[in-house]
Amino acid sequence: MGPPGSGKGTQAKLLASRYGIIHLAPGDMFRQEVKSGTDLGKVVGEVMARGELVSDDITVRIMDKKLKSGETGRGFVLDGFPRNIAQAEALDRMLAKMGARLDLVLNLAVSEEEILARTQARRTCSRCGRPYNLKASPPAVAGRCDVCGGELILRPDDKDEVVSERMRVYRHLTEPVIEHYEKQGLVVSVDGARDIDGVTQELVSIIDARRVTG
Ligand code: AMP
Repeated sequence: MGPPGSGKGTQAKLLASRYGIIHLAPGDMFRQEVKSGTDLGKVVGEVMARGELVSDDITVRIMDKKLKSGETGRGFVLDGFPRNIAQAEALDRMLAKMGARLDLVLNLAVSEEEILARTQARRTCSRCGRPYNLKASPPAVAGRCDVCGGELILRPDDKDEVVSERMRVYRHLTEPVIEHYEKQGLVVSVDGARDIDGVTQELVSIIDARRVTG
């Protein structure tokens, strides 16, 4: 969990690769649909460009399919889901059916000032989706992805006016999800304003401590 630009995608991908489990991010799935120009992509692209949430119906269906796909055998990292209480309740039902449970909800705390600075400096590879920060983690060659050579772009929803809407949605709809999981004793908040490695190290130590004791 964490506001837009808090580093959820970056950290979730690193954790998934470290623990050999899959990374499930509806935002990435939707961007892929937009890029491929599918019917779904046309619908969700407009919603995303406004900074609003895609309907629960579409989002829950896509996540349900992924969770049932059999790729989740060793576990999964959810990134950007659930984003409202209805989705959290739908996830509770999906997990109950699978006989699975959430071990931990990691919350990246970052101030609004920092969020704005980060989304302004964020560039995303138009081919593979890898994020860069022009100040903190710039690409080796300006405007090009280090991994695939794709063109780096400003995500349409990283424009200032759309970020304000995403922050509003986050405060009204997503923050209550953190409270939902706090009641279950699952939430650990970390300071997400540090460098990528510092945050990863703290997340790894929290997860590993739970793996030993839990
Ligand atoms: P993200 O990449 O997580 O920042 O998500 C980008 C955009 O995708 C969001 O602003 C929403 O429009 C959409 N999106 C991602 N996750 C969800 C979700 N769980 N529910 C609804 N819309 C979502």
